[in-house]
Amino acid sequence: MSTRTSKAPKANGRIDVLDPQDGSLVESIPRYDAKGMQSAIDQADAALPRARRMPVHERMRVLYDAADYVDRHRGEFAETLSREGVKTINEARAEVARTVMTLRLSAEETRRIVGNTIAFDQRPGSENRFGYSRRIPVGLIGAITPFNDPLNLVAHKVGPAIAGGNAVIVKPHEATPLSAIKLLEAFHAAGVEEGIFQVIPGYGADAGDALVVDERVRMISFTGGRETGEKIMQRAGLKKFGMELGSNSPTIVMNDADLEQAIPAIIGGAVAAAGQNCLHVQRLLLHESIYETARDQFVESMGRIRYGDKYSEDMDMGPMIDPQAAERVDNSVQKALRDGARLLTGGQRQGNFYAPTVLEAVPDNHPMVKEEIFGPVTSLHAFRDEDEAIAIANNVDYGLHAGVFTSDVDAAFRVADALECGGVMINDSSDYRLDAAPFGGVKGSGIGREGVGYVLNEMTEPKVYCFNIR
Ligand code: NAD
Repeated sequence: MSTRTSKAPKANGRIDVLDPQDGSLVESIPRYDAKGMQSAIDQADAALPRARRMPVHERMRVLYDAADYVDRHRGEFAETLSREGVKTINEARAEVARTVMTLRLSAEETRRIVGNTIAFDQRPGSENRFGYSRRIPVGLIGAITPFNDPLNLVAHKVGPAIAGGNAVIVKPHEATPLSAIKLLEAFHAAGVEEGIFQVIPGYGADAGDALVVDERVRMISFTGGRETGEKIMQRAGLKKFGMELGSNSPTIVMNDADLEQAIPAIIGGAVAAAGQNCLHVQRLLLHESIYETARDQFVESMGRIRYGDKYSEDMDMGPMIDPQAAERVDNSVQKALRDGARLLTGGQRQGNFYAPTVLEAVPDNHPMVKEEIFGPVTSLHAFRDEDEAIAIANNVDYGLHAGVFTSDVDAAFRVADALECGGVMINDSSDYRLDAAPFGGVKGSGIGREGVGYVLNEMTEPKVYCFNIR
């Protein structure tokens, strides 16, 4: 249903969504530019009063119904996600299952939006005052999302936005808009009106920028690269921001770690989404006394990763998002090798696939360890003691997650406290996330926290009511 006061957004041209695995056409969809985005903002702005008036029980019903829809159609969702994206069919199924949980969690959190009473009588002369705060919606939220989790990262923004009584426009990544469009289908089936939640596929420079600069958009909830995030903040003006950016996460293996537990977990974190994952194990720090044993086990397991046809149930890893990404990763690996690093396995590109790759002896402060690789490449580093591990781990301009394997609980506390990041996983790799937990980074990894209840807090704000009682 469209609103009475605004025109439906008009497309300008098309976006060809390609299968990253072989470049074949998955679907051609309408593309919206800045003008199309402005019409979408008109619609959202007109729908905002209705979003604000949706009672809590109605928001909960919509979110539960949308979750049930995704659950009932999980096979189709997984196929769409895998076709347009970089995930194997098994990885895609796992993301769909997470999305159902994210939406149900959003529904549950809706009833927990609470304010507090305020002790106005703490100030002399205010004895007769009584009041409270309640959380009100921020307003129109612009959600800009990346290609690597094209469904669940959208649900992480839309679920809390609807829960908070906001209107939301999603500008999905141009390479992977189909999962977001399918999610919209779930919300339409649940009865949400179009103006309250829209998906506007387009490119960052026109549709994305138009969303960022519009004054009616009160919050930008962005997940993507750091450079893009910085550009958006410069362009956005007076707005709230949620910035979930990249990283180059460390995982530390101490000398008393259980390698049988550690190696499979680290492998999972090194190759998930072919390394195109913000929690990717990019740097593996091994205590010098176990360096060779752990290295050999890790390299051997990385060499056994099956990659190729992402629709096959037997594959562990899919492709890079496009030829440029495969080339970028290859260039970074080749540069590291020229600068003195040693290749232990991988280092080959076949079309858009990149072999799981392990490097050692990467020079200190090399871009391979300072920047985000965003591919299936892990570098190994030996450390003497806890302090050196912490120093290596922190010697980067990012800080999203870290992993620490140890059987010494005191050491775990000490190291976890000293690591500069948003979350430390003890006896797991950096690549673990619970959708109900606060999630976000420090330094160049971002601003604010996602995690359903936490971002819901960001997507609402307190309004104070003060009664001056006569
Ligand atoms: P990207 O920055 O290239 O694109 C992200 C989104 O921003 C896309 O929708 C794109 O169209 C849009 N965009 C680009 N330029 C824009 C502009 N000028 N104005 C407005 N929008 C613009 O990121 P990507 O390649 O899709 O994703 C990879 C990055 O995302 C990595 O750095 C990764 O670590 C990060 N990431 C972070 C998290 C997290 O939660 N912290 C999760 C997943 C991915």
